Amino acid sequence: MFYDYRCTKCEDIFEVRLSLAEKENGKPVECSNCGSVETRQMISALNIGGGSAASQPEKVPAPSCCCGPAGSCSI
Ligand SMILES: [Zn+2]
Repeated sequence: MFYDYRCTKCEDIFEVRLSLAEKENGKPVECSNCGSVETRQMISALNIGGGSAASQPEKVPAPSCCCGPAGSCSI
C-alpha cells in the first residue's frame, strides 16, 4: 500500500510504500527530503463522501426574524 506522508520539519510531502504489518507496527517513516522521522500520514479526502450528491446545492434554511424562528413573527 502507498501512503502519503508529510514531514513536519520541512513540510515535504512524499509517498511511502508500507506493508500492513509495517504500518501496524508503527514503523517510523523517514522523510525522503531531510531524513526526519517526524512525519505524519496525510489522510486522503478522496474516499470521503463520494458520489455526485455532494455537488447538490444545500437547501437554504428559512430566515429567522427579529423575534424568533421564521413564522413566529407577527409583523
Ligand atoms: Zn523533511
